[in-house]
Amino acid sequence: MDSISEHVSYKEATRSNTALRRGIENIPDTPLYWVNNINQYAFKLNNTIFRGNIGDIYNKDMIRKNKNTHQITICTHGNLCKTLLSGNICKFYHDPNELKEILDTKITKSIYNEYKLLYRNFMNTSWLHTEKHRNIKNNSMRRFGSRDTLKYDFDLMQINDIEYNDQCILNYKHQCIHDILVIIGLNNKNVINQKTVPDKVSYKDISNRFSLLNDADIDI
Ligand SMILES: [Zn+2]
Repeated sequence: MDSISEHVSYKEATRSNTALRRGIENIPDTPLYWVNNINQYAFKLNNTIFRGNIGDIYNKDMIRKNKNTHQITICTHGNLCKTLLSGNICKFYHDPNELKEILDTKITKSIYNEYKLLYRNFMNTSWLHTEKHRNIKNNSMRRFGSRDTLKYDFDLMQINDIEYNDQCILNYKHQCIHDILVIIGLNNKNVINQKTVPDKVSYKDISNRFSLLNDADIDI
C-alpha cells in the first residue's frame, strides 16, 4: 500500500507542498454538502465520498424486545427485496443512492421518497471492535480499524468473506459520517470550540454556559 487513492500517494498526502501545513490554522475548509435527491449530507475527501445522516442509536434491550426499532441493519436483498418491490416499507435499511437505480422502473417516486426519509439507525454495541471475526455474536461489531493490525486486516479482507466484508465496510462508513455530523453539531454549538472556553471555568456559575457540563469547580 503506497497510495491513499488513484491520484494521491501517502507521500503527497503528507509531504507535498500542497498537503504540508505548519499548523492546523492553515488547513483549508472542506465544505459539507446537502445532497437533495438522496436526502443525505456528503463531502469528498481525498477522492473518497463520505455521505449519510445522523441516525438513532438503540440499545440492545430495545432491539431484543423489538420496541419500534428499524433500519438497524442493511437489507441483504438490496434492490431485489420483495417488500420493497411490492411497494411496502422494509424493516431493514435501503440506501437511497442504490434505490435510485430502480426508480421509475421497479419503484414509484412516492415509494422512493418514503425510503429516502428513513435514516440508517444503529445498535449501540456496533461501535465495538473485535479481532474474533468468526464468532457469530460479533457479526455487527467492527472487524478492522486498529492500527497494529490494519494492514493484516485489509489483506485478509481481500481473500475472505467478500460479501460479509461489504456489510462490515458499509456499517463503518455509515457510522463514520454519523460521528462526523455529531462532531460538526458539537462544534456549531460551541461545545468543543476550545478557543471560546475561558481559561478557567467555574462550573457552578449558572450564567456561564459551560457550567452545565459539570457542577464541580474544575481547572482546565
Ligand atoms: Zn428490504
